[in-house]
Amino acid sequence: MRYVKISRDEAQKIAKLHEGALGKSYRDLLFSEGTIIGKEIARIADRERFFETAAKLVAGRGWTDEIVFEKGRAIATGSFDAGERGCERLRGIVAALYENQSGKVDVQETECEGRGADNCVFIVKKR
Ligand SMILES: [Zn+2]
Repeated sequence: MRYVKISRDEAQKIAKLHEGALGKSYRDLLFSEGTIIGKEIARIADRERFFETAAKLVAGRGWTDEIVFEKGRAIATGSFDAGERGCERLRGIVAALYENQSGKVDVQETECEGRGADNCVFIVKKR
C-alpha cells in the first residue's frame, strides 16, 4: 500500500478550509473518514492480539504517539488530530476498532489534548 504524508499544520489548515465550506457537517465527515481508516487497521490487525496490534498500527501510521485500548475506554497521547474541536478522525478510528470486536458502539471523546488535557480519552459504550 502506498501512503502520503502531510504535516499536522497542513492537516489543520485543510480542516479549516473544509469546515469553512461545510460547517458542522464537517465533523461528521471527519468521523466517517476515521471509520474508513479504522476498518482497514482492523482488517490487518492480528486476530489473537487485536487491540495490542491495532494500537501499534494506529501509532505506526502517525495518528497517535501511543494509544491504549481498555474495556470501554481508549486513551491516546500525541493525537495527530488534537485541536480545539477535538479528535473526530481518531474517534472514528476508535469506533471502527471496537465495532470490529463487539458490534455497534457510541464513542465520545471526553478529554482532549487539544483542549489542554493530559491525554485524549474516548469512552466507548455498546449501542
Ligand atoms: Zn483529542
